[in-house]
Amino acid sequence: MTDIAETNAQTLILVVDDNELNRELLIRRLEKRGFATAVASGGGEALDKIRTLPVDLVLLDINMPDMDGIQVLEAVRQTRDAVDLPIIMVSAHDESARIADAINKGANDYITKPIDFLVAMARINTQLSVKRAHKQLKESEERYALAFRGANDGLWDWDLGTGRIYFSDRWREMLGLGADELGDTPQSWFDRVHPGELENLKRAIENHLLGQSDALEFEYRALHKDGDFRWLLTRGVASRGADGQAVRLSGSQTDITRSKVYDPITSIPNKFLFMDRLEWLLDREKRSPMGSFAVFLIKIDRMGELRQSLGPVAGEDILIEMANRLMEGLRDEDTVTLINEAETFTVSRHDEGDFAILAEGCRDETSTPKLAERLHNMIKKPLTLRGENLLLTACIGIVANVGDDGNDAVTVMQHATNALDRARAKGPGNFELFDRDLQERALKRLKMETELRRAVADGGLHVNFQPIVHIDSGKVAGCEALARWTHAEYGQVSPVEFIPLAEESGLIDAIGEWILEEACRQHETWPNKDCIDLSVNLSLKQMQRDGVENRILSILERTGMDPHRLKIEITESIFMEDMGRINAILTTLHAQGIDIAIDDFGTGYSSLAYLNHLPITHLKIDRSFITDVSTDRAAQAIVQSTLLMAQSLGIKVIAEGIETEDQVALLKVLKAEYGQGFHYWRPLTDEDFAALL
Ligand code: C2E
Ligand code: MG
Ligand code: MG
Repeated sequence: MTDIAETNAQTLILVVDDNELNRELLIRRLEKRGFATAVASGGGEALDKIRTLPVDLVLLDINMPDMDGIQVLEAVRQTRDAVDLPIIMVSAHDESARIADAINKGANDYITKPIDFLVAMARINTQLSVKRAHKQLKESEERYALAFRGANDGLWDWDLGTGRIYFSDRWREMLGLGADELGDTPQSWFDRVHPGELENLKRAIENHLLGQSDALEFEYRALHKDGDFRWLLTRGVASRGADGQAVRLSGSQTDITRSKVYDPITSIPNKFLFMDRLEWLLDREKRSPMGSFAVFLIKIDRMGELRQSLGPVAGEDILIEMANRLMEGLRDEDTVTLINEAETFTVSRHDEGDFAILAEGCRDETSTPKLAERLHNMIKKPLTLRGENLLLTACIGIVANVGDDGNDAVTVMQHATNALDRARAKGPGNFELFDRDLQERALKRLKMETELRRAVADGGLHVNFQPIVHIDSGKVAGCEALARWTHAEYGQVSPVEFIPLAEESGLIDAIGEWILEEACRQHETWPNKDCIDLSVNLSLKQMQRDGVENRILSILERTGMDPHRLKIEITESIFMEDMGRINAILTTLHAQGIDIAIDDFGTGYSSLAYLNHLPITHLKIDRSFITDVSTDRAAQAIVQSTLLMAQSLGIKVIAEGIETEDQVALLKVLKAEYGQGFHYWRPLTDEDFAALL
């Protein structure tokens, strides 16, 4: 293949024409010249192909039925300019007005039908060569910019035969050395290398000489004439003789000291320096408090996308511009409204499009959002880059009052990241303050979960018993077992808090079974156990586990408890489950003599149909109805109708949460049989309950 044909083969021309004959004719001739081709028979298809294929040039018919060539042209030009995607219009010979229109709208050129292929080829080639030249120019600009930033290296060249090394002036200057202040042997180099890295450097060189690495690349510290160490990066490649033996080793050396503490792109402090300063400030706060400060973590939105579309050099330019804006914006006295004289900012660059700022004078939660607004304003000022107008935004995560709670630098940055993540979740251009409460709640939960696990194992749980009485006589008929957790730090933790925690962490099975077994064991010790019923709560999660009925029955067996004295309390949420399965479990339990109570009746699932179909023996009317029963007619009506319905179904009712004499009086009138509540007794310890009996 000739050179031209080779270039053509990589060039994709899209032919758009509604006439098949025209299409075929053009395609055949283009392919003869070695071009890759694609076709579209209408405007919509053309736009699709332009979007999805790497099309280099379009031959676009002006007259097409569905969407004419000019409309297609206009649509393409919204996103692709004439250099990026040349478009040559194909028209009838008497259409000068439309051709003029097309050229005004961004067509590069035109050819007329019937097509003179020689003319067409000349026009196509002109457009393609303009495009290629432009692309090369752009690439060389990128290369030049990158090369320019990488210049300034020192050079070295080691002749392995003579054992002498040539060091360039720049190499020596990096260490502050004049021409006669450095020998020409490897030893004079190694003498200046920090002992911490010397052995590894020698090993890296040896490995490369032995052919075990493609190139030498090593970072190390070397002694500068001023007595300090500098960080250097040395790179080298061996030249080898015909036998593969290395004969010389040469390479470059770069001073990377700044990049160890300064960001090489923006020249502002990098993450290490930032963390250093943060640690120092936290330390100072601990020793002699000067007031808290704030940390801002900034992430430029869509940075990856911008880098992709504009190229890496433009990406770096954006970072440099942002660094400048932040530095200058924070220095600018006119806009300083909240900042006192002691205000100091450390602006630093972290990863990708991330910047972090230490605002030492930002002492409270009201000044931080104001500063965030200012930062947003600095960032979103229009930016012109290589002729493109960009509008940038950023998300900001803020930690206020840093230094108040004794957190270390890593934790502070985790908090900042956490806030930034929440800001980003809201969308571009948002900021969020780190929420200590939110974090604390999450941490407390995690801690509690661990401790609950331990409590289950170490006997930190116990059971209380709340008497259930005959309302008429006031005599104790039974009790409800209620779980209690005494925590060393938080004291009594409510089951309302720890039962859900146990459900989430999977501890509920162990806890539920322990409580049932413990309650049954206690029940066995009571003098008049044969006329005292025991209610135990069973969580939905426990019911969902296979074999729950067998585990309950085996506990009864182990403890010797009479199943006829046991009542299982379940809530209405159970009826959202697989009813066939629930029915089977309850039926098995009931067949052994165990009663089934619906707890908190009236607060959940509203269908009453299940009362008929399941072996339900008791309803516990929820406390919320009882609380209002003596004052609110609606509550009274609900209690009354529940009692009536239960009575007709042969189900017994327990009124929960009775607190006053008035409630008792009314429940007596309504003929409620059983009651439970603080008016009678609060939940009692096992000893107190046994004593009561
Ligand atoms: P519940 O089963 O409805 O238990 C009744 C709750 O109401 C108990 O709260 C009890 O102390 C409280 N109470 C009783 N009488 C009164 C009163 O007159 N006034 C007021 N204001 N409250 C009264 P507790 O012990 O905090 O338990 C709360 C919930 O935690 C229970 O509600 C139950 O759903 C759950 N729970 C308790 N122990 C266990 C258990 O061992 N397993 C399971 N799965 N859940 C349990
Ligand atoms: Mg209950
Ligand atoms: Mg209840």
